[in-house]
Amino acid sequence: MDPGYLGNFVSGRVRDKKGYFSVKHLTRLLMESHSSREDAEDGVFWSNLVPKKINIFIWRLLNRALPTRLTLSKRGIVFHSLDCIRCEQEVESPDHCFFSCSSSNILWKKIWAWWDIKSPCISSVSALKRLIQHLGSQHHWGHIFLAVCFVTLWSIWNWRNSILFAEGEDIIKRKLEDHFAKVQTFSKLWISSRSHKVQVNWSNWVSSPRKP
Ligand SMILES: [Zn+2]
Repeated sequence: MDPGYLGNFVSGRVRDKKGYFSVKHLTRLLMESHSSREDAEDGVFWSNLVPKKINIFIWRLLNRALPTRLTLSKRGIVFHSLDCIRCEQEVESPDHCFFSCSSSNILWKKIWAWWDIKSPCISSVSALKRLIQHLGSQHHWGHIFLAVCFVTLWSIWNWRNSILFAEGEDIIKRKLEDHFAKVQTFSKLWISSRSHKVQVNWSNWVSSPRKP
């Protein structure tokens, strides 16, 4: 992929032939990139075990193109507060939203414990990139766990948005939701439907996922 293309997307200038931003157009370009051998060198991450929409989401996260409050304020959008929508303790940067926010941290701890992995030190998008590279090359189950991480990140973003668009008492209720079971459910559903090698039953999936 042309490195300049990443900058174009981040600044919101990716256009199709008619001059409109198009997720379909972006998907096609990313898939073309994925099918070439250049993708590993360029750091384009893709998992065939999750839907395309999740891969597009991860690409946007890794390129800091998701509309967190801090990202939008840097583009000139004025907010009453830049505080995190869930904890209201710190500015909502991508790193805070997905990693250092106490809500995200609790979810990640459950994911590490589920996969019997010593908690890695992930506090930023950059650290996530390094973990992805490590997992993809070091373990036979790495590509499965990688897909689980993708689903976790996607769940965190959906969780955040569900609070953002909630009203009244629903805001508190949604903040207190536990999304761990949803990550287990969606990752199993998507991964097992895309790989014949991962046909575990639910009980094994939740108890010893590294032995599919
Ligand atoms: Zn927070």
